[in-house]
Amino acid sequence: MASLSQRLKDRAKELGLSPVGITTATPLYEARRILEQAEALPFTTGSVLQRTDPKLVWPEAKSVMMVGLPYIVPAEGPQAGTLQGYFAAGSGGQDYHCVLKEKLAELAAFLQSEAPGALTVPFVDTGPLVERALAYRAGLGVWGENNFVLRPQVGSAFFLGGLATNVDLISDSSIAGTCLQCGQCRDACPTNALDTPYLLDYRRCLSYWTQAKEVMPPELRPLLGNRLYGCDTCLRACPLIEKSPLDGVTVDLATFLAIGNREFKQRYASSSFAWRGRTVLQRNAVLALGNSGREEAIPILIPLLSDPRISIRITAAWSLGQYGAFESRLALAKCLQQEIEPSVQAEIKKALNESPRKW
Ligand code: SF4
Ligand code: SF4
Repeated sequence: MASLSQRLKDRAKELGLSPVGITTATPLYEARRILEQAEALPFTTGSVLQRTDPKLVWPEAKSVMMVGLPYIVPAEGPQAGTLQGYFAAGSGGQDYHCVLKEKLAELAAFLQSEAPGALTVPFVDTGPLVERALAYRAGLGVWGENNFVLRPQVGSAFFLGGLATNVDLISDSSIAGTCLQCGQCRDACPTNALDTPYLLDYRRCLSYWTQAKEVMPPELRPLLGNRLYGCDTCLRACPLIEKSPLDGVTVDLATFLAIGNREFKQRYASSSFAWRGRTVLQRNAVLALGNSGREEAIPILIPLLSDPRISIRITAAWSLGQYGAFESRLALAKCLQQEIEPSVQAEIKKALNESPRKW
């Protein structure tokens, strides 16, 4: 009869999880060394010690099973010159956190039925632990220069989740070797955020800025293109990742900007990006209109100069400044006379001073 560890992995595969692997609940010394030298990352919780030691999160943990939930990476990514907004691979469908939590609950139930008294703690992007480091140690894949854990033999991209348990399971070995080290992810990155292989400079990463509440720095805004949530460019560039001929998830920017709070919740409540909220995503849609280069964007942007949300007014001013058309400059000049918020006033003045006059 197969070992409990193997039966657990077989059950995970039956649930559509792949790759899967098991590691010990011992500290992640290499990840700790790297994190101690790096600036604290946003969207993370806990100290470096907690992030790299499963037992500091749950003292009874003995083993950690790491699982991947595969998702499709479309061959076509963000586009220029379009009035459509793009959601990064994997973010457009049902929220993967919910899908993975359900599957981890089934795995926990299986383990408890096989090992009565087993205790489990599932995690999907929720706790402080560095999931990628655990996945690497559990043998789910090699560490790519683009900071993803990649599975060369499988080719799919996958979201990560984990199940810590007080049961002693048989650990897998990490996969020897590295990714191809071809540099194609680095070359494809529009912002040079991967200049140092394996060390993402999050302050230059578009994926981070599509999620940050703070409006992205002006020098990065033209590089956003039509991305609304996340960025998958360095993933798509990787020859180890299979691309699907299916289209990515896009929305009409004007329609997306017209959505109110209630409709946003009704329509997108179960999607992966809903947590970030309407304002941040609509702010990105405003920037995408500025990047589209399409004059049809101007009449969509002008009313947004009076939006009650400051971030929408700031980005509408910037986007109108990309056009330099008579009507966009006139709208900016009129708005400047009424605007009382200093940060928006500054953005309008900049847009008027820097936008190329085109008439
Ligand atoms: S997610 Fe986008 S911006 Fe961030 S490193 Fe990858 S390609 Fe660059
Ligand atoms: S593109 Fe090349 S260097 Fe980058 S992660 Fe993939 S194999 Fe590694």
